[in-house]
Amino acid sequence: MTSRWGRRHRGCDADVMMRIDLHTHTSASDGTDEPRSVGVLAAAVGLDVVAVTDHDTTAGWDAAIAGAPAGVRVVPGVEFSCVVGEGERRVSVHLLGYLFDRAEPRFAAERRRLRLDRTDRGRRIVERLTTAGVPIEWPAVQRLAGGAPIGRPHIAGALVTAGASSTVDDAFETWLRPGGPYYVRKRDVDVRDGIAMVLAAGGVPVFAHPRARKRGRVVTDDVIRELAAAGLAGIEVDHVDHDAADRVELRTLAGELGLIMTGSSDYHGTNKAVPLGANTTDPQAYAEICRRASGTQPARC
Ligand code: AMP
Ligand code: FE
Ligand code: FE
Ligand code: ZN
Repeated sequence: MTSRWGRRHRGCDADVMMRIDLHTHTSASDGTDEPRSVGVLAAAVGLDVVAVTDHDTTAGWDAAIAGAPAGVRVVPGVEFSCVVGEGERRVSVHLLGYLFDRAEPRFAAERRRLRLDRTDRGRRIVERLTTAGVPIEWPAVQRLAGGAPIGRPHIAGALVTAGASSTVDDAFETWLRPGGPYYVRKRDVDVRDGIAMVLAAGGVPVFAHPRARKRGRVVTDDVIRELAAAGLAGIEVDHVDHDAADRVELRTLAGELGLIMTGSSDYHGTNKAVPLGANTTDPQAYAEICRRASGTQPARC
């Protein structure tokens, strides 16, 4: 088919009926489903395409691809922690990278650095909690993570197990919110460098949930304009953390800047309430992502 951008895409025949979810997490990061189950779960909710976008790791790719049933395409990706601005103006942002070459050394090294930093930062959060008398132990956090890069959801899970919080949500609210006394930042890369790294590895960079205000401060539209000029390919428009007005404004901005618009669940299994396939991506947008990628292509394309 011919895409909205007027060129035939390579590799991916995306037909208009396809249901596509381009943002999910597995137990390779802070989701609760094993990577090998993602394709089966996707098929069960009527998805044809599912991206695996674990935080700062590609460790789930192979199992996700191997476990997908016939008819489900797996898009290998990552959700990469980045930052915009400094000091008072610092905003933490998440960059989705799709279909990049995971062996490209610079990006691979940055993901490795981020994973190590997550361990260091997780320990420091646990130390702060312990010092305050909260009954949480680092080995319990490590057990919950099961070798995955440590995320606050793992610490939240350990807080629930220890009886310090009633739910993961409550743990975030009480102990783990940014700016709170127990919060420790990650040492994230500037998002412009993040975009450059994804592009240099043949991938397609998409700004995840740019208006997710409940997670903290968000960037202005002018920052998105600058990032589009720096090579950002798309923005996630349909996301559980965006209200109707956000979505309308982001569509207008994407139209102005020629950005690809995506929609996704940001599924985390039982770590979050949102179901797989809660938001989906237009097949033409998916086809455009495939067309622009040179790192790898979706499995079962
Ligand atoms: P981290 O990457 O360690 O800073 O943790 C951020 C992760 O925590 C993101 O993947 C979010 O999806 C998740 N998260 C943020 N707030 C909540 C919440 N209230 N309940 C469950 N998960 C959350
Ligand atoms: Fe997460
Ligand atoms: Fe995110
Ligand atoms: Zn996510």
